[in-house]
Amino acid sequence: MIVAGNWKMNVDFSEAEDLIVEIAEGIEEKSPKVEVIVCPPYLYLELATDIEQETNLFIGAQNLSQFENGAYTGEISASLLQSMGVRFSIIGHSERRKYFNETDEILLQKINIALKNEIMPIFCIGEVLEDRDAGKHFDIVKSQLENTVFKLSKVDFEKITLAYEPVWAIGTGVTATKEQAQEMHAFIRNLIAEKYDPTTADECFILYGGSCNAANAHELFSQTDVDGGLIGGASLNAEEFLKIIDIAESITANA
Ligand code: PGA
Repeated sequence: MIVAGNWKMNVDFSEAEDLIVEIAEGIEEKSPKVEVIVCPPYLYLELATDIEQETNLFIGAQNLSQFENGAYTGEISASLLQSMGVRFSIIGHSERRKYFNETDEILLQKINIALKNEIMPIFCIGEVLEDRDAGKHFDIVKSQLENTVFKLSKVDFEKITLAYEPVWAIGTGVTATKEQAQEMHAFIRNLIAEKYDPTTADECFILYGGSCNAANAHELFSQTDVDGGLIGGASLNAEEFLKIIDIAESITANA
């Protein structure tokens, strides 16, 4: 399983130091088999990658530019991230799609440039509430996959971690039910099997994201096709985040 924390645009510098140290210490103590990834704001990546070297913790960015280096004021490229030792990046978060007009076409550029620079994408997909209410959620997720990661070769697709994040569940306190999560994750895994092959589908990590916390992680992560979580709000509290890691660890141990 993978448990990834997305800090979004939160925590000041001293809070970031405390949070990353607390998480790293907790992980050192437990040394979980679960893979833990923390995605702080760019500003704290150096701090986090220094700590990463001493623990079993991976650091990711929350975004990267679709362009190579050059005259793109305010942007951060995949190669700059790689030079900092960053190994993962969230790509295609619904907040990027909504507030920064990131289309599937732009997201595919980002995925390709990340892979070229040995950064593993955590690629987000998910429907808005109107799509679900209209019964279009499977079609939406399918088209998000077909327009982006399904354009990759099998070798490249194998480097992708997917995160199913129903947009209506993000930051709302309303999580998908375990049935809704399982149903969509199984649907996604089937599509991968059809597009590539069953082994590739089995080996792909599909995380759930959207108001996932220590109180609901157990029922969500216990679903056959849920391979962990992408955690927003609950990753800003070290104790809660470590509890979620423990839950993933206990499910893995009993599998
Ligand atoms: P949330 O965010 O856990 O705060 O709902 C999840 C995400 O946006 O990745």
